[in-house]
Amino acid sequence: MNKVGFYLQDPKITEKMGKIKHKIAILSGKGGVGKSMLSLMLSLALAKNKHRGLVGLLDADITGPSIPKMLNLRDKKPTISGETIFPIESEYGIKVMSIDFFLKSDDTPVIWRGPLKSKAITQFLSQVEWGELDFLIIDLPPGTGDEALTVTQTLQGNIDGAIIVTIPSQVSKFVVKKAISFAKELNVPIIGIVENMSGVTCPKCGAFIETFPGKAGEEIAKELNINFLGKVPIDPKLSKSLDKGINLLAEDLETSITVKNLFEISAKVEELVEK
Ligand code: ADP
Repeated sequence: MNKVGFYLQDPKITEKMGKIKHKIAILSGKGGVGKSMLSLMLSLALAKNKHRGLVGLLDADITGPSIPKMLNLRDKKPTISGETIFPIESEYGIKVMSIDFFLKSDDTPVIWRGPLKSKAITQFLSQVEWGELDFLIIDLPPGTGDEALTVTQTLQGNIDGAIIVTIPSQVSKFVVKKAISFAKELNVPIIGIVENMSGVTCPKCGAFIETFPGKAGEEIAKELNINFLGKVPIDPKLSKSLDKGINLLAEDLETSITVKNLFEISAKVEELVEK
């Protein structure tokens, strides 16, 4: 039993999670700030560095699953054997699981009531056979509502910690602080904060343009004494690659600050969890 109430650890989840060295949840104060982008790019960067085949990505954003679309895997169907569900293996060296693989068509909405949603998450955590992994990255539902609470409670005690994503605006700063309190309340350690959409480089003159008047990510990190993991500037090549299901990190893009920063963030995360 914890502060929030009623929670009991499922032994099957503990068994499955026990085979995975590091479990990291990605959390945001609200939707649309780049939580799925970071979950995916972090997984791809870890796989590209030295963990190919040893990175799992769980799309736990039950109502807005977007990882299969971002990887062009929407037509894949996971193999099921008895109670065991096998993840889809992406050509980029990561294993993926999402509710999206089980939906009938592009337009099928996920209008499920709370108990069904929480059952889906529990099933994923207890029945998906990831095998031995170095990392499992979990893309949590946005915000601090029922869904995020259910998933985080189910994971509690089984994860290394959470990475918080924000954009640099003051509005986002206000909301993201709630996400940090939420994680603290549930005893989930905070690995650090990532500031996404921190400006954009002008393709014509190369000048760096700040998208929001502020440095919310760095400010929060300082105020709350948590690690600042880095900034991810807006990069049209990144959004295009995510729309098309192409791995930007597989390409030779040494000129992109966004790609460089994503690799640096992944290296920092690796260092922090392996400490
Ligand atoms: P969330 O999971 O927080 O709802 P997403 O990761 O889906 O947000 O991001 C919202 C949209 O913004 C997506 O289309 C994504 O491709 C795009 N996006 C996110 N971060 C960046 C970035 N740094 N540069 C360009 N596009 C981005």
